Amino acid sequence: MFRYLHFIGKDVEPDTGRFIDKLSPATGQKIGEVAVGSAADVDRAVRHAWAAFPAWREQHPMARGRILMAIATKLREHAAKLAEMERVETGKPAWQNPHEIEGSAKYFEFYAGLVSINHGEIIDLGPNYHSYTTREPFGVVGVITPWNAPLQQAARAIAPALAVGNVVVVKPSEETPGTSAFLAQIAVEECGLPPGVLNVVQGNGVETGASLVSHPLVRKVAFTGSLRAGREIGKIAAERVIPLTLELGGKSPNIVFETADLDAAVAGSVRAFTLNAGQICVAGTRLLVQQSIYDDFVSRLVAAVKAVTVGPQDDAFVGAITTCAQFEKVKAYFEIGVAEGATIAAGGEALSPEESNGGWYIRPTVFTNVKQDMRIANEEIFGPVLVVIPFSDEAEAIKIANDTDYGLGAGIWTKDLACAHRVAAKLEAGQVFVNEYQAGGIETPMGGYKQSGYGREKGVESLHHYSQLKCTTIRL
Ligand code: NAD
Repeated sequence: MFRYLHFIGKDVEPDTGRFIDKLSPATGQKIGEVAVGSAADVDRAVRHAWAAFPAWREQHPMARGRILMAIATKLREHAAKLAEMERVETGKPAWQNPHEIEGSAKYFEFYAGLVSINHGEIIDLGPNYHSYTTREPFGVVGVITPWNAPLQQAARAIAPALAVGNVVVVKPSEETPGTSAFLAQIAVEECGLPPGVLNVVQGNGVETGASLVSHPLVRKVAFTGSLRAGREIGKIAAERVIPLTLELGGKSPNIVFETADLDAAVAGSVRAFTLNAGQICVAGTRLLVQQSIYDDFVSRLVAAVKAVTVGPQDDAFVGAITTCAQFEKVKAYFEIGVAEGATIAAGGEALSPEESNGGWYIRPTVFTNVKQDMRIANEEIFGPVLVVIPFSDEAEAIKIANDTDYGLGAGIWTKDLACAHRVAAKLEAGQVFVNEYQAGGIETPMGGYKQSGYGREKGVESLHHYSQLKCTTIRL
């Protein structure tokens, strides 16, 4: 039974003494408790961070980089423990967690190498002036993360924020509190990160998260999660006039043309919506298939989906849904889809109690006979659920793909690269993947068009979202 506290230079009990129960996604039983941070706890963490800011920002960038590199090394040393913590809290299959811990280490490694490139430029105003820009840290950055990839989401924001000289207070999801707190502890106790530079306040959204966004010394917020919470945070940030990065949901189209390598497209399309039990913001959950190959493609797809393993066993491809509320939400969409007139061609149910051991497992599900105006084709379900829609030509594929309020990702499958470029240019999405869904890595910037959010994470681009530009002009 675990008991997660705040990390503010050291483990800190919650001011109010309150804790939330954490239930296991694999059994539905209680496995631990998580502290609930009050406004006073948030204030303590933010002031601790603020006190550490002047010395941290004035360190030579390379000194910051060496510490980030040490964090990457230590995350790898502690990988087995971190992976096990995430397996228990998220219900992911055991094979998956080590990849995510390695991905988290890579964020620190990548931004450790970029500490010195956050420079400005000289602006030519003729011989009588010297004008130049510099990129400066904001101060305290508040980071609020969801439960679907806990350490990776935290690392994605923390590493670039620290690289450019900010200090950070993280509020992890109350469903997955462990690895962010352990990361802060490792960084301070084993990697030479000065106490105060990285802090963790545990707790829920409405109380702890909202207090963090509202705190007067928090100068920038990076949020990953639902559109609902993003809107609420956006209102506070607008009132305070602070910059915000919002990484929200998606209903990403994945388009298969008749010119595709169909074997690769079937396998890639299955993976696109079943990886992490579909709990990925950029999951390819709207499959658009060209009419000329529709029947053949869908029958191959359905056979492949039925062969995907799901359950509590370590080598299952699809693990649990991480929260009970999310499990209930995904199941509710089966009834919604059928009531709308769609057909369940695969899945459409949770595992039986005997198969699931009381855990929250959903069989990968494919809906056919779907119309673009149905709720199942518009709303983010955040589970292993796919809708399939036919299209006749490029123009119609683009029209259907863009007919959504979201715009996070999009996939294209074709051997015709001219077609791929034409379509990619017209898709309203922050990332387009051609012939491999979710191609890319920590180096490739991600972020939303439309209601999928704004700001960019990953890549060199992210550094600009954690620094503010100053222009200095001198009359010579
Ligand atoms: P959420 O948005 O409620 O929670 C994400 C984080 O925000 C958590 O740390 C939470 O405590 C915090 N939070 C919630 N409300 C807040 C508020 N008013 N002020 C400040 N912080 C707040 O997401 P969830 O409940 O974990 O999941 C619900 C839905 O969000 C899912 O069904 C899915 O659609 C979406 N989701 C998207 C992503 C993504 O990566 N885009 C990740 C997880 C969940």
